[in-house]
Amino acid sequence: MSGAAIRRRPIVAGNWKMNFGPSDAHAFIIRILDDLERIAGVDRVICPPAISIAAAHALTGASGVALGAQNMYDAERGAFTGEISPLMLRGLCEYVILGHSERRALFGETDELVNRKALSALAHDLKPIVCVGERLEDRDANLTERVISTQVRGSLAGLPSERLNDLVVAYEPVWAIGTGRAATTQDARDVIAIIRALLGEMYGDEATAGVRVQYGGSVTAANARELAAEPEIDGALVGGASLTVDFVDIVRAFAEAKSLG
Ligand code: PEP
Repeated sequence: MSGAAIRRRPIVAGNWKMNFGPSDAHAFIIRILDDLERIAGVDRVICPPAISIAAAHALTGASGVALGAQNMYDAERGAFTGEISPLMLRGLCEYVILGHSERRALFGETDELVNRKALSALAHDLKPIVCVGERLEDRDANLTERVISTQVRGSLAGLPSERLNDLVVAYEPVWAIGTGRAATTQDARDVIAIIRALLGEMYGDEATAGVRVQYGGSVTAANARELAAEPEIDGALVGGASLTVDFVDIVRAFAEAKSLG
């Protein structure tokens, strides 16, 4: 079975980054929750900062809107000051973003660490959203394929094949994050094809046909429809626009495009 033959449920996740403490999170979720709940056919995920997850969960718990953490450590407990464990997230979050480019660039996260986290997330029934993406200098030097290959092979090594349907990969070109310069659908399609081919080499096409691959990088209400119309883009990881009600429009764009496709 080829990857293109399977129908994957779209997934749109909002990465709030270091914005919205508990009371702001509460207020913002009140503004968008009813609208998000009404949109069918798409997984809707909100990723607050760790300190706001409990406040978010108090509102989203009984809704169809899921929560994701923005990061976690791989160990269950212990002397890891400032870290959050998968045991702490389980029951509150369904997803966890791992290896975001900001974590890689600003906090020194390596593929090896991201891989340990991905394995730990799956072992604790959390669905990892693993981010990969090239920097502008990589793209300009024609190194995109090599960089993506290193990240995919390193970050996604050794995952249990029976859990691959719980894996989400976010293709996030670093030059598109927070810059207002989204990748073209052609760019996104080309790199997502590389990601799918790599996953196929690692685990087989059949086992990875259900892996969802999102695009992330300056997704807005204005460009969401065009991105969503691309069959190989299974959803979006949204930063800045997830802090506004535009997030609802982005989710709707993916729900509508994918229900037609
Ligand atoms: C992100 O941080 O994952 C992201 C895609 O940010 P933005 O949408 O603001 O570019």
